[in-house]
Amino acid sequence: MTATAKRRELDLTAFPSGTVTEFTTLVCLACIFDIFTKQLGLAPRTAFSEIKRHSPTVEELTARQASRPYFDSEEKHPHCPYCGSAKRWLARFDTYCIEGGKTTDAARRALLKKLPKADDQFLVVEKKSDSRAVLFEWLDTLGLNVDLNDEAWLIEATRKYLERREPKTNWEEVFDELRGVRRSSRLTEGWERDGARLFLAPPLYSEAILIQYLVSRSHAHGGLTLEGRLTLMELIRRLRYSGYLEQIGITERDPGEVFEKLIDHLAAKHEWVGSLEVSEKKKTTKKNASKKTAKKSRSTKGTPPEPDQILAEPVKLHYLIDRRDFLEKAKSVYASYAA
Ligand SMILES: [Zn+2]
Repeated sequence: MTATAKRRELDLTAFPSGTVTEFTTLVCLACIFDIFTKQLGLAPRTAFSEIKRHSPTVEELTARQASRPYFDSEEKHPHCPYCGSAKRWLARFDTYCIEGGKTTDAARRALLKKLPKADDQFLVVEKKSDSRAVLFEWLDTLGLNVDLNDEAWLIEATRKYLERREPKTNWEEVFDELRGVRRSSRLTEGWERDGARLFLAPPLYSEAILIQYLVSRSHAHGGLTLEGRLTLMELIRRLRYSGYLEQIGITERDPGEVFEKLIDHLAAKHEWVGSLEVSEKKKTTKKNASKKTAKKSRSTKGTPPEPDQILAEPVKLHYLIDRRDFLEKAKSVYASYAA
């Protein structure tokens, strides 16, 4: 990697895992110039000034399947699938979707402050979403980044879920050389590592299974979990017998309704953070007094579950679009076009 390429990478380390999703899409400038000069009949100079102002929509930049003039390619020397143009005609848009909220707002402001302002090298587009849509997007991204044919993904998915649920814990350390994840018969909340195994309190374990089911259910008949392959009915039965459904206040019997309530519960992150912070605090004082964590106690203990009040919460998504490569390539392509 060259020095210039290296400088381009944005530093996203201040954001908790799972709160930023990156999208990359390529655009063919030959195709774009073609549209402006041949189809619209503009002179190259006019076309160039139009193109510089061009900004794709968030939908175009983040679609799973790109459409003309955009395309996706994993190749080192990609070609335009529409006109065959080589690399120097192709520009890259990087889009970062940052989930708004308490854990990301400060980091996002700091990042935006550091970015160059001239020529709209970066654009920010805000979109309203809700906790359910964010959860499904997160599950979708997780599914694309694991190999469902390799059992190790079950541990990886458990880790991603814990990172999302409690971003302040150093999960990398907890999962280092980990060989298995089990349901704890001792703990009522939180987690503990014992040798190469991680023991999760039953509610956490239930949620890990649920996440695994959701990630893999479209891949297999039923979903793949640490408990084996499960249909929705089997999953719900397990969650019911383990006491999880009762614990989070789900009293419905109809599998479809239970499923909807489960999704709402998983999507409502504010509840998650509360419960794990408390158990972790206990852990910290007991086992590792030197590792002080200044966490606000937001215990929800004693509050009876109110299932009917769990609704999808509004979430703001901040899309940061990096246009630097596009602007540079448009300029160099124009130079050769006008010559
Ligand atoms: Zn093309």
